[in-house]
Amino acid sequence: MHIISLGAGVQSSTMALMAAAGEITPMPIAAIFADTQAEPKSVYVWLDWLEKQLPFPVHRVTAGSLEKRALEMRTTKDGRRFTKTDIPFFTLSASNQIGKIKQRGCTRDFKLNPIRKLIRKLGGIARGQKTVGVVQWIGISLDEVYRMKESRHPWQENRWPLIEKGISRADCLRWMAAHNFPRPPRSACVFCPFHNNSEWRRLKTEEPSEFEKAVQFEKAVQFEKTKTQNMRSTLFLHRSCKPLSEVDFSTEEDRGQLNMFNNECEGMCGV
Ligand code: SF4
Repeated sequence: MHIISLGAGVQSSTMALMAAAGEITPMPIAAIFADTQAEPKSVYVWLDWLEKQLPFPVHRVTAGSLEKRALEMRTTKDGRRFTKTDIPFFTLSASNQIGKIKQRGCTRDFKLNPIRKLIRKLGGIARGQKTVGVVQWIGISLDEVYRMKESRHPWQENRWPLIEKGISRADCLRWMAAHNFPRPPRSACVFCPFHNNSEWRRLKTEEPSEFEKAVQFEKAVQFEKTKTQNMRSTLFLHRSCKPLSEVDFSTEEDRGQLNMFNNECEGMCGV
């Protein structure tokens, strides 16, 4: 049973359309999109279009709003307020040291887990099953080969069809153009700290209301964190640790999507 993990970006969209065209076999039984409820509008519009082109169903799963989760306050039994950070923010300490939060709870809780849950259901995976029941397709391309990771679950095998075919992200865009398909958007939460300057610039110019959401989100996070006792550094979305609304995104060379997600990535965001 083959199932696509659909990020709804360039690579996984191309992979799904290639499967629909019979260029990758066998035909998957479904694609699954994990919705953080924080993708830019362009991704949701794209997804609506994409699912009409595919002969298999696209299931949308969600663990709720990642934005709401990031702003959630918790209280210990003795009344101290604290927060857990799920998003890999940049941090600025009182002594002006720039750092980065290493956890990636957002990918795990809002993408990997909801997809895994539905894959288990669709694949009829029994509790404690040790044999492979599902092959999950992941849309990592040749230029991101370092993001490949074997499945942690004995009942699931991971497959990277674009790598099997030796296809890069640029090849995906060429394939889409050759088939007269529109250009897919980049997929990632509007406030993802892995955006490079080129993506921030695109968001700001092409989807200003989405960029504004990221600006407001950063302010809200900073405000909420001041009420906690466990977060001393200030959190930022841009690596310069300047407020997003004040960053000059034109100062840095374009880096492309390749550098957006580093080796810590578990292979779901941004493809
Ligand atoms: S796109 Fe970024 S913020 Fe969103 S889940 Fe992935 S790593 Fe987290």
